Amino acid sequence: MIDLKKESVKTLSGVGQKTALSLENAGICTLYDLLCRFPRAYENHTPVFSLSETSPEHPAALILRVTTSPRVAYTPTKKRIVRFSARLSEKEPIINIAFFNQPYLVSTFHVGEDYLFWGKIVKGSSGYFMFSPSFEKPTGVYNEMEPVYPSVSALGPKKIKKLVNTALDYIEDKEVIDTLPEEILKEEGLFDIKTAFFKIHRPDSKLSCSAGIKRFQFEELFNFSLLSLRMSEKEDLKLVPSMKRVNLEEFYASLPFELTGAQHRVIGEIEKDLTSSEKSTTRAMRRLVQGDVGSGKTAVAAGAMFIAVKNGYKCTIMAPTEILARQHFNTLEKYFSPFNIPVLILTGSTRTSERREIEKKLQEKDPIILVGTHALFESGITPYKLGLVITDEQHRFGVKQREKLLSMAEFPNSLIMSATPIPRTLAMFLYAGLDISVLDEMPKGRQKTETFLIPPSKKERMYTFIKEQLEQGHQGYVICPLVEQSEEEQLYSDMMSSPDLISAEENYALLSKKLSPYKVGLLHGKMKPSEKNAVMEDFSKGNIDLVVSTTVVEVGVDVPNATVMAIENAERFGLATLHQLRGRIGRGSAPSQCILITPSSSHDALERLSFLCRSSNGFEIAEYDLEKRGPGDFFGYRQHGEMPFVFAQNVTDPTLIKRAQESAKKYNKTIKEL
Ligand code: ADP
Ligand code: MG
Repeated sequence: MIDLKKESVKTLSGVGQKTALSLENAGICTLYDLLCRFPRAYENHTPVFSLSETSPEHPAALILRVTTSPRVAYTPTKKRIVRFSARLSEKEPIINIAFFNQPYLVSTFHVGEDYLFWGKIVKGSSGYFMFSPSFEKPTGVYNEMEPVYPSVSALGPKKIKKLVNTALDYIEDKEVIDTLPEEILKEEGLFDIKTAFFKIHRPDSKLSCSAGIKRFQFEELFNFSLLSLRMSEKEDLKLVPSMKRVNLEEFYASLPFELTGAQHRVIGEIEKDLTSSEKSTTRAMRRLVQGDVGSGKTAVAAGAMFIAVKNGYKCTIMAPTEILARQHFNTLEKYFSPFNIPVLILTGSTRTSERREIEKKLQEKDPIILVGTHALFESGITPYKLGLVITDEQHRFGVKQREKLLSMAEFPNSLIMSATPIPRTLAMFLYAGLDISVLDEMPKGRQKTETFLIPPSKKERMYTFIKEQLEQGHQGYVICPLVEQSEEEQLYSDMMSSPDLISAEENYALLSKKLSPYKVGLLHGKMKPSEKNAVMEDFSKGNIDLVVSTTVVEVGVDVPNATVMAIENAERFGLATLHQLRGRIGRGSAPSQCILITPSSSHDALERLSFLCRSSNGFEIAEYDLEKRGPGDFFGYRQHGEMPFVFAQNVTDPTLIKRAQESAKKYNKTIKEL
């Protein structure tokens, strides 16, 4: 019996020190780690024999004969590309092949020799192209599902494939310890671990391959459930001092608006958590507040903090970005100054001297409200009498930070606020152990945001429309998916002589001219925090009329005077992201318009985007996404680069969650009875 989680990759023949080190750098130490690097795609390597069988959307395999010697060409910034041409036969047109940034390939291909290329064939103004296709020497045996691996640190896809195959050969005739209990495999009809690995890495059919993957998805969800169960069992035992009820009316009276019914209700739920006990101690608060963008979560957080500071406790509220932290700071300072409660801010750009000052105050006994970014964790100090930890837009935090957050939340009450509407079934899974409050009512007087879908050909009209809005004294956003065109894309679009994605920088240059004399600002993730702050501040003060931005504005930015938003290449974003982006407008009393621009003609993309035009309810949109695309999107938050789940990101079967949860419950019980 071998335990794949204990067997080092070094047991494999061909893995020396150097390879082992590269693998280790990518977190691959054991055979289990290696085999869990699933193919990123499967390519149908059955060759086609005519270009007429190909389409620009779908990659195909072709055996091509090289007709010109590869040569190295330079891009304007001196990066190298390797180019040559090849063709299927004398009768077929020439295909131009180009590889970016792999100059060594120049000696790989030889005129007159055949190679199997796999990739998309695109027709440009100067002929047919294949960009960076995968390739191999023709073997005569072609797999319909040829696995393709992602690179792993210094190791290329081909090396990884070889290593995976060596590992499979190694385990083929050995018995392997399973990582799931046998009775669960039986009950759920899942492949055992060894079979599953073989079905994934050496698939014989799509069906059995996805059954293999499903096993690992199940396992991940099962383990997550088990962990949640155990955590909440522990949480149930955690007691904190109970707070006294305070006069919240006094606080409400100082707000610049009447709270909505939902805000009242949720603050009431929080009040119950914090003050719930007749006794001197109570179960620590663990609550998630879910509320669509603009539903007024900040006021709810402030209400919770009011209870805590009135009881003599300190509170922290953490935001994922500096911009957002600053905005909270400004709001909270206004809310709390009538009560003489100091509000402080600590972020990455806080000077050391100021930081010391704050750290000192945290050790004193007076109540304080501390606003910050994750820089709050990095100080390593535990505030004296910390009574409440609030995390805003929690899904934006990385996994590491979340772990820290959990350990920091060991002691006090914690409140998590999320603007990502998640269907209830999923929320109960992802946030198992947390109580959930929903802010399902928008403040009165909000104008609905109208959403339109337009093709790029209507953009001139859109610019006129935007300009009219600016003339009326309003402000706006133009959102682009990219900061600047990468060289590869630049080259690609040059060669294809077709405009590709619109980048923020390009658009900034264009709009500065088009919208003159109005002032246009640029905002993207590659700017320094201080630069970003300056732009955002100018925008909120009205010194900038329109911001061209990447998705950095997505989180919580609040400029009520902004009434128009255009989103370029809208098809590139998930509905949840688009909905969040759209939440930046429609925050004031004037009607707002959101314009989605897409060059796409795909039925799915258009249908998805039109749904967004029809619905303004975040939960409804989330349900739609769940139904259309399965729960994977919600696990991955792929667009945010954060991955709490590895396999479950692609779960399309909604029943899998329930099954994993139930299995975990049952298993947890059996284990305890043993
Ligand atoms: P969220 O964080 O939920 O997206 P915010 O807390 O930033 O929303 O609130 C959005 C805007 O609505 C802010 O300008 C805030 O001052 C305002 N607001 C909040 N609650 C109310 C209310 N009950 N009535 C009117 N305006 C409100
Ligand atoms: Mg907010």
